[in-house]
Amino acid sequence: MNIISNITSPNFSIRKDKEVIDTIIIHYTGMNSSDEAIHRLCDPNAKVSSHYFINRNGLVWQLVEDRKVAWHAGVSKWLGRKNLNETSIGIELCNPGHYNNYSNFTNKQYKSLEFLIKILKQKYFISSDRVLGHSDIAPNRKKDPGEKFNWKRLARENLAIWPKKIITPKNQKRDIEHYLQQIGYDVELNLNYIIRAFKRHFVPRDKSLLINENIVNIAYSVSEEFKKNRSLY
Ligand SMILES: [Zn+2]
Repeated sequence: MNIISNITSPNFSIRKDKEVIDTIIIHYTGMNSSDEAIHRLCDPNAKVSSHYFINRNGLVWQLVEDRKVAWHAGVSKWLGRKNLNETSIGIELCNPGHYNNYSNFTNKQYKSLEFLIKILKQKYFISSDRVLGHSDIAPNRKKDPGEKFNWKRLARENLAIWPKKIITPKNQKRDIEHYLQQIGYDVELNLNYIIRAFKRHFVPRDKSLLINENIVNIAYSVSEEFKKNRSLY
């Protein structure tokens, strides 16, 4: 895969030595065109950026070097750790987003994204449970990459987590908040935000906030998959 590096963003800070890269955050740009998105990600006044940008044709730009901190995650928290910018790589996918004309991601985008994640996972020893969406780590503020993003496809290649089957918790309190916390979500936020973010990622067809037995089972199954994966590292 050819990574284009003729455009760079001035929006970055220096990664401190102790801050290792262990997470990948997937975003959408929320802008209509690729040019507009690149322009914004490189605009010093916008104060936002990402390490990589993938357009609708699957072309990949590197805007910020991996070793620098790009400004893509903002206020964020996962597994009790704040400010994910410091320890992550941000990848922006061109998509108009929820406020415009939210579209399916293209096959070419997925192909390039999968290739890029494979390289990054190998290079930085990133485990699949650390490949997350922006809405997972900032559920009160963000919707991207959203319910049209196909996490299951990534998981098939071991690039993200997806439960192999839906199981029912045995002899345990059927407490969705507990399972969401086990996955990594910040349960100090309003629970509705977390449920929405969880469903966007793992139950994408369900836009409601409803919690029933099936949703609890899915949350439990996802949390078990995350725990299993974490124990491998
Ligand atoms: Zn984002």
